[in-house]
Amino acid sequence: MDEGEAASHPLRAQAEADLSRVIVEIVAVTGLQTRWRGIVVVRGLDFLHAGQKHGWCGISLREDILSVSEYRWPTMIHEGLHSVSAAFSAARLDPVSRRWEEAIVEQTQRILRPGLLESLGVTLDDGAVSARDASHRYNGYIGGLEAQRQSEQTASLDFYLRLLRSAPRERIRMLIAAVREVASRREEEA
Ligand SMILES: [Zn+2]
Repeated sequence: MDEGEAASHPLRAQAEADLSRVIVEIVAVTGLQTRWRGIVVVRGLDFLHAGQKHGWCGISLREDILSVSEYRWPTMIHEGLHSVSAAFSAARLDPVSRRWEEAIVEQTQRILRPGLLESLGVTLDDGAVSARDASHRYNGYIGGLEAQRQSEQTASLDFYLRLLRSAPRERIRMLIAAVREVASRREEEA
């Protein structure tokens, strides 16, 4: 699929309309500003990611993900959260910052999802959504974040919103316990 086909994709208009609704709710709940410019690029099956927020402030979503509600809505919430994250700018993130960004955004997605879906009037199959969550690539990092949060005894949403508001360098300083947790799990596995 070339750029022209992606622009005129039949799923694009509805995807932009739905993502707009999602992001309006995200901005209301988090109090953070979005940098999304209202553009969705629908990608073919050869695209490596379910979704991707770009430095130029568009969002790519893959057509198979858009076709299944249990993937469509969580992925839209996930990408919408990247658009309000302080870590996402035109500059590319280094690999370590990128993994933490993914874990922070994904866990925030899971926390906010029930409330957002209710506001949006969307009902999903819980089993299918849980299966999606369970297969997420950054679950190990999410485990590290949760271990740190529990040791700090911080309420879920407060903890993740504080991270979303922080630039990558500041974040890494905030995440010392989570980084250690992920490293020690790796040693156990090795
Ligand atoms: Zn992501």
